[in-house]
Amino acid sequence: MFTPRARYRFYGSPGNYVSAARHAVSRALGRDPDGRELLEARIAELVGVEHAICVPQARYGLYLIFAQLVKSGRPRVVMSPYTIHDVVNMVLLAGGQPVFCDIERDTCNIDAAQVEKLIDDQTGAVMITHLHGLACDVERILQVCTARGVPVVEDAAQAFGARVGGRWLGGFGRAGVFSFGRAKNINAFYGGMVVTSDAALARTIRDEVAANPDEDAKKLAKRIAHCLVGDVMTAPPVFSPLTFRLFRLGAVRGVKSVNKIVQTEDDPTRKAQLPDAYRRRLTSMQAHLIHEQLASVDELTAHRRELARIYHDGLSGERGIRLPPWREDGSHIYLQYPVQLEDRWDYVRYMMQHDRDLAIQHMASAAELEIFQDLRRDCPEARATAERVVLLPTYPKYNAGEAHRNVEVTRAYLRSRGGHGA
Ligand SMILES: *Cc1c(COP(=O)(O)O)cnc(C)c1O
Repeated sequence: MFTPRARYRFYGSPGNYVSAARHAVSRALGRDPDGRELLEARIAELVGVEHAICVPQARYGLYLIFAQLVKSGRPRVVMSPYTIHDVVNMVLLAGGQPVFCDIERDTCNIDAAQVEKLIDDQTGAVMITHLHGLACDVERILQVCTARGVPVVEDAAQAFGARVGGRWLGGFGRAGVFSFGRAKNINAFYGGMVVTSDAALARTIRDEVAANPDEDAKKLAKRIAHCLVGDVMTAPPVFSPLTFRLFRLGAVRGVKSVNKIVQTEDDPTRKAQLPDAYRRRLTSMQAHLIHEQLASVDELTAHRRELARIYHDGLSGERGIRLPPWREDGSHIYLQYPVQLEDRWDYVRYMMQHDRDLAIQHMASAAELEIFQDLRRDCPEARATAERVVLLPTYPKYNAGEAHRNVEVTRAYLRSRGGHGA
C-alpha cells in the first residue's frame, strides 16, 4: 500500500526546533559561546580553504564576492541563466554585467565549451552553479579560466558536501558560496557561507558582514514558525488525507491559488538596490544549528545517492524521459533527481492521479525573463531544459519503497504515452 509522500520536506529533523530554542535561550543568558567562529573554522577545514565567512543568505554572499571581483573594469560575469533570478540581481547590483552562457541538457549545468567562447577581455568572473547538487565540469572550466586569468566563483548552494576527487565543491574557485536555506542539504532557517583562500577578498567581506546587525529575532522566529507549519502539513499523517488532496486539486484542475502555495520561487522582480534586509549577520544560534548537522552530511548524501540509483536503474533506457548522469564518486549529491519530459504537466498530473506527489522545477531560464530582456542572449538548451524539468524526491525521510513506486508509475506513464518526448 502506498500513500503519497510529500514532494518536499524541510530537510531538518524535529530536533532542529528544540536545538534552535535551546541555543536562543542559552545565548540570551550569556552561556552559549559564539557559534559563528567555530563553524567558520570547521567549514574552512572541511572545504580546504583559508577562510570561511558566515552570511545570512548565500545570495548576499554572491553579491559581496562580485562587488569585489568586478571592480577592476572587467564587469562581465559569464553565468548559467538556469538559476534563481535573484542571483542575477546580485550580479547586477554588485556592478556586474551577466553574460548568459548556455547549459548542457543532461546535467542542467553550464557548458564548458561555451564558457571558453564567451570569455573576453571584459570578463571579470565566471560563475558556475552546481545545480541539483550535480557538479559542473569544474576542472575543465578552471583550466580554461586560469589560462585566461579569469576567477571562477562557485554557487554551491545546492551542493554542500559534494566532492570532486575528494575535494569539496565550493573550494575550487576563487570563492564559493553554500546555502543553509530551508530546502537545501542542511537547513538552518536560512543561512549561508562564503569560502575563499583569497585573503584580501575574505577581509573585505568579513569587515562588511561584521558591520551588519544580527538577523532580526522576530523575523527568524516567523521563519521557524513557517517551517514548522510546513513540516506539519507534509508529515505523513497529515499530508496524505489533507495536503496531498489539495495539491492534487491544484495540479489536476490547474487551480492557480493552490499552485502558488507550492511554488518555490518568488515572482521574478528586478531589484533596483540591495534590500536592506539582506545586510544582516547569521545568528550564533543558526551557526550552532549548522554545526550540529555537519556530522550527518555524508549520511545524507549516501541516502540521496541511494534513491538516485533507484531512479537511474529503474528509468535508464526508457524512452520519453531524460535522466541526469549517474555518478557515484561523490561529485553528485542529487539534492533532487531532475528528469526532463516533453509535457511535464501531463506527467505530473498523471503521477498525482496515481498518488505520487511531484514538483516541477519552477526556476525559469533568466535569459527568457521579461525583467532581464536587456541581457538577453539566446540560450536554447537552457530554454528547453527550464520547460521540462521535474524533480523526483531524494530527501532524507523519503524511502526506497517510495522511489521504487515512482519508478513503477513513471514507467506506466511512459508506456501509456508511447515513449514520445523528452
Ligand atoms: C538557494 C539557492 C541560492 C540562494 O541561496 P540563499 O541562501 O537562499 O540566498 C543560490 N543559488 C542557487 C542555485 C540556489 O538554489
